[in-house]
Amino acid sequence: MVVGGDAAGMSAASQARRMKGPDELEIIAFERGHFASYSACGIPYWVGGDVSDRDELIARTPEEHRERGIDLRMRTEVTALDVAGGRVRARDLESGAEEWTSYDKLVIATGARPIRPPLPGIDAPGVHGVQTLDDGQALLDTLARTSGRRAVVVGAGYIGVEMAEALINRGYEVTVVNRGKEPMSTLDPDMGRLVHEAMEGLGITMVNDAEVTKVLTGEDGRVRAVATEDAEYPADVVVLGIGVRPETTLAQAAGLPLGDHEGLLTDQAMRVRGYENIWAGGDCVEVLDLVSGRERHIALGTHANKHGQVIGANAGGGYATFPGVVGTAVSKVCDLEIARTGLREKDARRAGLQFEKVTIESTSRAGYYPGAAPMTVKMLAERRTGRLLGVQIVGREGAGKRVDIAAVALTAGMTVDQLTALDLGYAPPFSPVWDPVQVAARKAVGAVFGKR
Ligand SMILES: Cc1cc2nc3c(=O)[nH]c(=O)nc-3n(C[C@H](O)[C@H](O)[C@H](O)COP(=O)(O)OP(=O)(O)OC[C@H]3O[C@@H](n4cnc5c(N)ncnc54)[C@H](O)[C@@H]3O)c2cc1C
Repeated sequence: MVVGGDAAGMSAASQARRMKGPDELEIIAFERGHFASYSACGIPYWVGGDVSDRDELIARTPEEHRERGIDLRMRTEVTALDVAGGRVRARDLESGAEEWTSYDKLVIATGARPIRPPLPGIDAPGVHGVQTLDDGQALLDTLARTSGRRAVVVGAGYIGVEMAEALINRGYEVTVVNRGKEPMSTLDPDMGRLVHEAMEGLGITMVNDAEVTKVLTGEDGRVRAVATEDAEYPADVVVLGIGVRPETTLAQAAGLPLGDHEGLLTDQAMRVRGYENIWAGGDCVEVLDLVSGRERHIALGTHANKHGQVIGANAGGGYATFPGVVGTAVSKVCDLEIARTGLREKDARRAGLQFEKVTIESTSRAGYYPGAAPMTVKMLAERRTGRLLGVQIVGREGAGKRVDIAAVALTAGMTVDQLTALDLGYAPPFSPVWDPVQVAARKAVGAVFGKR
């Protein structure tokens, strides 16, 4: 039985079905929303107009799941977990009918809930979250109805930044109000500064170090501005991208183990710790950070899909594990690519690690080759050992996915010295003769070991 019908839940159900046919394993999945197996990651590109049709974001419809022998019950919300009795209570949101259903194996994949501070005006028409396809549709409806062209995005994490791009593409004047000193708090502030400057270069007004205190409404009750302690920013539409928390209300009420970040705690097989027949994955769990050795909450679809596959294999009678993450993420705002993996300076300090840091400028292609674009790479390496700890990259085309080189090196526990020797592909249209990541690694070798 699966609770939550998106990335983690339906990956688990599908993988379990691949392991065992309908005669051997009955699979029931509950989803309270209108959609299952959709890509929330695509919402900014749908709102921005790069993806024209909402249905392109749906990987598999409920009917397709049912054809594969998964009893997916849409618009059905699980309202209680009885782990001692091995049953869940679910409510049909259309009829209101509620009933208990028994399980032998339970998968919790309830995702995350967006943070929505209880500010005056926050629920006014024209204020939108972007967590679900329904949210995306509601925002598009508002954009179609509104004649004004001023948008305020609250929050400058990757979702806020991607939504700023979407609104720019729609022809809006965009202001981003951000609590942090710089946008993209998943980067160190010096790298976030580059994102800030590039966003201003795109015509986006950046307001950092500012807390939204209320949303102001006009006589018609609709949003008209966003207020901070110091100023008001006129808005015809407001998009919230303030972050998410694990959706673990049911799990907590059932007494399942939660970590410091309110996410469920699992073992490597994604089994909830202490429970033989309950698994959990996706945005509702905490994951092991392989670099710091600590548990973190990272809400990313890439993890949710992998968790689902591992859970499905195990619940289907096989064996699979998810070893942990190194914290890799990539995003963009217009043509600026932003990537990170591993630890930031403050993560390394928190983990008690001493480190050297280096920053280099390079280009995406050989400097003489047409289209070569600048990129900045920052690298952290452990003092004395030279173990790679983290990489952040900001640049134009070709910058973002370069972080995968560092992700592999981190996973393998490589030193910056070993990174300099990696046999990476080179030809002028793809890279300078020393890839920018290796240029940073060479400088990091110098910082850790001195001249050699
Ligand atoms: C705008 C946006 C952009 C993103 N971009 C990226 C990206 O570029 N890269 C990336 O890796 N990730 C991205 N993500 C994150 C990614 O979408 C999530 O990490 C992923 O969807 C998590 O999958 P999940 O199955 O754990 O949770 P969810 O997708 O949240 O699914 C959980 C499901 O459970 C249902 N549910 C919850 N409680 C109950 C209940 N009690 N009963 C029944 N059903 C319930 C919910 O309705 C929901 O459908 C983005 C997210 C957003 C919002």
